[in-house]
Amino acid sequence: YGRCPEARKIGEKHALTFKFLKNDTKLIRNILEGHGFREVHPASSEFNIMWTGGGMKPFSLRTLNPFQRINHFPRSYEITRKDRLYKNVQKMQQEKGVKNFNFIPTTFLLPYEFEDFSATFQREKGIWIIKPVASSQGKGIFLINHPDQVPLDENLVISRYIDNPLLIDGYKFDVRIYVAVTSYDPLVVYLYEEGLTRFATVKYDSNSRSIKNAFMHLTNYSVNKRSHRYVRCDDPDIEDFGNKWSMSAMLRLLKAEGKDTFSLMMAIEDVVIKTLLTVESQISAACRMFLSTRGNCFEVYGFDILIDEDLRPWVLEVNLSPSLAWFV
Ligand code: ADP
Repeated sequence: YGRCPEARKIGEKHALTFKFLKNDTKLIRNILEGHGFREVHPASSEFNIMWTGGGMKPFSLRTLNPFQRINHFPRSYEITRKDRLYKNVQKMQQEKGVKNFNFIPTTFLLPYEFEDFSATFQREKGIWIIKPVASSQGKGIFLINHPDQVPLDENLVISRYIDNPLLIDGYKFDVRIYVAVTSYDPLVVYLYEEGLTRFATVKYDSNSRSIKNAFMHLTNYSVNKRSHRYVRCDDPDIEDFGNKWSMSAMLRLLKAEGKDTFSLMMAIEDVVIKTLLTVESQISAACRMFLSTRGNCFEVYGFDILIDEDLRPWVLEVNLSPSLAWFV
């Protein structure tokens, strides 16, 4: 962008400005500066775009002018918190039929729904995964295969573990997709066509004796970088080497194996859109309540998607302020 004088003129012509709060993403700064936006002090109210790493306080939205944009919607936590995401999807399952919103592993909130979990476990057994309700980077996550192993003194979610992930070279992976929403009313969604494939560092083994091995079951970079087996790829032109690939490199490999990657991507689009539909009315209502003019908000979400061996995508979680850097 720095080398494109045409792009620069966009911001310069109208003296456009941006400010950063709790965030210093080089990519965003380069894009904005490349489009001729000038940075202003974080305390300034004279800005066109505000990019903040944290969530949004509704009161700070009320004072926005029609020409200002901010990179969060009010109540985005309705999909970015693991407990809220599940409740919202479950509500849609009840309203529209389970089979139409069946893309998220069954989840219970702990400690309150422990009895329901136990009853389900008695029927279905298997491996379950426990996570803090509002955490990230694999922190505090572990697998269990018996209700006795469930702690009851914290707010956690317990989800059915998808134990048949699609493997590449024997390794589990998940996919990070970047999704921009520019409006909830009407819903306008842009799916970025490239994404990331993140691999575990130990080959997958579905035997429950291995459930303690985070390097086998979790695909977070923040977890696997601690493994001596983690292979970093420093060359931005190589997309299919080491523990982090581009999404398209993964799709090319699946296609070469004869898999229907077109249908897979359609199925991924479907679950992304349906996830957003579960909060469409709540976020639209919050916008009507908190914004004095329409259209001040946009948001880039990071969707974490697991693909199982039947090529079915599962939404594991939606991230607020996903990292936009390769090495984090
Ligand atoms: P965090 O926000 O801490 O990254 P995630 O929900 O993304 O938490 O889970 C971390 C990792 O654990 C995922 O990237 C995935 O590899 C694995 N994982 C999470 N939930 C499941 C599940 N239900 N089935 C199988 N693997 C899962």
